[in-house]
Amino acid sequence: MNKKRNNPETIAIHGGDYRSDPATNAVAVPIYRTTSYQFNNTEHAANLFALKEFGNIYTRIMNPTNDVLEKRVAALEGGLSCVTVSSGQTASTFAVLNVAQAGDNIVSSTDLYGGTVSLFTHTLSKLGIEIRYADPSNPENFEKLIDDKTRAFYGETLPNPYLRVFPIKEVSDIGRKYNIPLIMDNTAAPVICRPIEHGAAVVIHSLTKYIGGHGTAVAGSIVDSGNFDWTADPKRQPLFNEPDASYNNVIWGKAVPELTGANVPFAVRARVCLLRDLGSALAPDNAFAIIQGLETVALRMRQHCANAEYVVDFLKKHKEVTKVIYSTEHDKPIADRAKKYLKGGNGPMIGIELKGGIEAGKKFIESLKMFYHVANIGDARSLAIHPASTTHSQLNDIIEDLDQALNKSSKGNLKAVS
Ligand code: PLP
Repeated sequence: MNKKRNNPETIAIHGGDYRSDPATNAVAVPIYRTTSYQFNNTEHAANLFALKEFGNIYTRIMNPTNDVLEKRVAALEGGLSCVTVSSGQTASTFAVLNVAQAGDNIVSSTDLYGGTVSLFTHTLSKLGIEIRYADPSNPENFEKLIDDKTRAFYGETLPNPYLRVFPIKEVSDIGRKYNIPLIMDNTAAPVICRPIEHGAAVVIHSLTKYIGGHGTAVAGSIVDSGNFDWTADPKRQPLFNEPDASYNNVIWGKAVPELTGANVPFAVRARVCLLRDLGSALAPDNAFAIIQGLETVALRMRQHCANAEYVVDFLKKHKEVTKVIYSTEHDKPIADRAKKYLKGGNGPMIGIELKGGIEAGKKFIESLKMFYHVANIGDARSLAIHPASTTHSQLNDIIEDLDQALNKSSKGNLKAVS
């Protein structure tokens, strides 16, 4: 890709190799509503199953509409390969199950989306995978929790509600000393952060949020950076170095680079083992909806971040607000991480605390009239009502609504997040 094509705006529309539909020349990506694909002959079928040749087998594992989305998301993140799945939750689940089995552990940041905490603490622990929690304010906390069974580190770029930017490079560097890959959930910071550039091995998204951006489809993605050597320490990564009895005893870490010429065993294993066995495939209709959102993600992220800065300034001066939580509003060194890792905006989310506790928070939320769309992370319905060209008046609406709701909240303490 030349320099110009590296712009996120361009990648979001032209990333990957789709130019027009090979069968019809349609420019918009068609929805391939098919479960299966006719094999040319028995040899072709056998080659596809044996991974000697790559092509469509069955929509639980791959689909041409999803393929376009996968290539664009991989390009957006600067990775080599991507697998789309039915939700962000599936993306986190697969990312962990792809490296860890019963008896293994993952060291995860404490700053996580609540659904991920529930998945880790309840469901994965019942499967025998231990999640150890490290406070990311000091990256060395990750190192302290490593043992022989540690298979990955896990963090979120811009975790809600603390909004403390994750020390990606610092934790990745620690992991790489032990051949431990860093999995980053970049749901809240597409475009403004590319975790792979800072050493992440795998990047996942809830595409439901900013990338889809319109609240019309639930979807997830897993991007393989291609930058992690899965075979450097076979004992550290047994799932990539031991024969896989479920797939003709293939050794994924070696076979995938040999077969594809690309170091993407993580993506291939997630697709051909986890989608094969667990399902959770993304419906091509939903892939289509996410592709529409992806086309404008760079513009929307910039606008979300610009709106957020404006609102932060307003909230900091408001008499009812005791604390504004924003990526740049923390003490050092946490605030410096926003400068280091976020480019083109400091994030789309804000938290606030009010004088008078939970009751004031409830009253504040209940008093908001227009704010519904802003309170849903990554949902751009507000932009459909107030087009981008009227940004300033939209901001005035936002400020006006916040102001009247704060004044009504009277004495109370709030925890609200946009
Ligand atoms: N990761 C983060 C950071 C999220 O905010 C969410 C959902 O809110 C998820 C993962 C899960 O995504 P989904 O709702 O698409 O399953």
